[in-house]
Amino acid sequence: MVVGTAEPKPKVRTGRCLCGDTVYEVDGAPDDPHLCSCRHETRVSGGPAVLWVGFRKDRLRWVGPGGEPTWYSSWPTLHRGFCPRCGSQLVSVADGSDMIMVTGFSLDDRSGTDPVGHSYREEAVPWMTIALAPDPFRPQPASM
Ligand SMILES: [Zn+2]
Ligand SMILES: [Zn+2]
Repeated sequence: MVVGTAEPKPKVRTGRCLCGDTVYEVDGAPDDPHLCSCRHETRVSGGPAVLWVGFRKDRLRWVGPGGEPTWYSSWPTLHRGFCPRCGSQLVSVADGSDMIMVTGFSLDDRSGTDPVGHSYREEAVPWMTIALAPDPFRPQPASM
């Protein structure tokens, strides 16, 4: 085995929509993984929060048969990419930002993406907080 001098290959992650038409590859360290419960994202996802994970915009490539997602601007400066066939939300990009946020659950490998915070937590449903932060000082229920 030869020990090379090359840098280790950056870890390439893949992410995709439900139907598989819209697929991306991204590398680099995940940045600021967080949950958001703002009204746009609960509406667009149909769920109580979305997990967002940032990567450098220039490190993401669209590699699926459908190419780029379809874009919807939920704010004049905020653009959301989704699969036009199955509707999966995949990314959001703010004007002027070097980062692209991907939906954490579109990633095939979510290592290193545990959320560090929860945006718009005050708009989250109360049971969301309970699910996210069980009290470590209370005994766990014996069974579900
Ligand atoms: Zn799709
Ligand atoms: Zn949000």
